[in-house]
Amino acid sequence: MQTSEFIWFDGRLVPWDQAQVHVLTHALHYGSAVFEGIRAYSCANGQSAVFRLEDHAQRLINSAKILRMDLGFTAGQIAEACVETLKANRMSAAYIRPLSFAGYGEMGVYPGDNPVHTIIAVWPWGAYLGADALEKGIRVKTSSFARSHVNTLMSKAKAAGNYINSILAKIEAREDGYDEAIMLDTAGFVSEATGENVFIVKDGIIKTTPLTSILGGITRLSIIEIARELGYTVEEQQFTRDEFYIADEAFFTGTAAELTPIRELDRREIGPAGPITRRLQAEFFRIVRGENLKHANWLHSYSL
Ligand code: PMP
Repeated sequence: MQTSEFIWFDGRLVPWDQAQVHVLTHALHYGSAVFEGIRAYSCANGQSAVFRLEDHAQRLINSAKILRMDLGFTAGQIAEACVETLKANRMSAAYIRPLSFAGYGEMGVYPGDNPVHTIIAVWPWGAYLGADALEKGIRVKTSSFARSHVNTLMSKAKAAGNYINSILAKIEAREDGYDEAIMLDTAGFVSEATGENVFIVKDGIIKTTPLTSILGGITRLSIIEIARELGYTVEEQQFTRDEFYIADEAFFTGTAAELTPIRELDRREIGPAGPITRRLQAEFFRIVRGENLKHANWLHSYSL
């Protein structure tokens, strides 16, 4: 179980085990919450840095806007509070989880005037898809659950309720012996994974799914930019599962998953991490750890 000393709760740092809510909290019943996942890394210069903190804070605000939820905090205040929480817990590397949710008040679907609370928790989190995943790659299954139609759940909102779809797909994949699932959109094209965006490589061209039915991943954007700087062609284009089966390389991107190679989809071998996947992964880790300062503006440095 994840722990740390303090959780930031509506502007105050409270001890971990006192950060509690009532069981009639609206979000607990209806999924009316938005959240973020952010990582802080220990850097080469002895300091630490949060990767693209301001972009994550802004996405939280955007998610809230989509859900018509008023957080009462600006992106700048959320970003500052993340750093305050890291420092209070003396964490030089961590996963950061801001969450804003409709609280205790009226029951019923309409959140009305229920208070909106915001918490920020931090904890150490290693490789999300398993210790070997970053090196050896993972086995993936096409889910029997489609990603939500673009007019069903708003995929640009990182909203708690959206993750029921991910949970269904994840349980199915894990219980069928796979590490992760990809979901197809309702037109049948590859969409994204339960908590990651997806890329394939064929004949040197990198392809990732367009924003249509996916969460606009901040790692995805970073990898597109890094790949183009390295001279690769990156296309944001729909593709099918059989195009995926015959890809030369494939990988997931996400804050938790970082850049995880995919070695198999539906028992079609794609192979161990290929040269482009390895190069992008290495470049990504150099950037987040402050070893390549070309993207120093992506790092929000702090010291304990
Ligand atoms: N898609 C989904 C559904 C996710 O939950 C995540 C993780 N936030 C991503 C994609 C990747 O987004 P990011 O790179 O910003 O973490």
